[in-house]
Amino acid sequence: MKLLTDMHIHTVSSGHAYSTVDEIARFAGEKELKIIAITDHNSGLPGGAHDFHFHNLKAIPRQLYGVTVLRGMEANIIDFDGNIDATEDTLGGLDFTIASMHPPCLRFGDKEEVTRAMIGAMENPFVKILGHPGDDRYPFDHEAVVLAAKRTGTILEVNNASLKPGGFRPGVRENLISVLGLCKQYNVPVMANTDAHIAYAVGEFEESIRLFEEVDFPQELILNLHPERILDFIALKN
Ligand SMILES: [Zn+2]
Ligand SMILES: [Zn+2]
Repeated sequence: MKLLTDMHIHTVSSGHAYSTVDEIARFAGEKELKIIAITDHNSGLPGGAHDFHFHNLKAIPRQLYGVTVLRGMEANIIDFDGNIDATEDTLGGLDFTIASMHPPCLRFGDKEEVTRAMIGAMENPFVKILGHPGDDRYPFDHEAVVLAAKRTGTILEVNNASLKPGGFRPGVRENLISVLGLCKQYNVPVMANTDAHIAYAVGEFEESIRLFEEVDFPQELILNLHPERILDFIALKN
């Protein structure tokens, strides 16, 4: 299985990542990816990028080394209603936004709270991907969230960084096995992303592919295998 897209990548602008756009795009080109997205952390996370960073992303060429480059943000979910730490003015200029839960920005909640936060974030029309679900410290109702993803057209992420040996999100593998089973049952597409914080990790999907194969996940529902479908649900901005 060869995954062709990587829609969650951090540059030096995130404050704790180590590669430039050029280094990332060059690696993506060498790995023959079709689409990548630059999705730095928003400023709610210490070291995250300022609004001006997101407003100026149009400076990055759409094509680099044969790869289409999308402009995004990894926003922080900041409460259990699912609000995120970015204004519509900023979000409106991006191709898409990932919404994620990070401990400095949201305390660990119970299942009811986290489920409500995830669904609230997915109802935000700018949010197209729910970042790294499956962390045991943020437990959620798997079925309710899968059905909300289907209803809102939001993509649930299989986060490769979380699946790596020594990953710091407990329970991710087991939770994703359950989520993928429900996605299969309800015909809901998912996407694997590396969440790379350095160029060498871009397009490295070993753990995600192993998981897809282990649960016999339908290739039809793996968006990375269908780059043309990604450009259907994300409207590129000028
Ligand atoms: Zn994250
Ligand atoms: Zn990230």
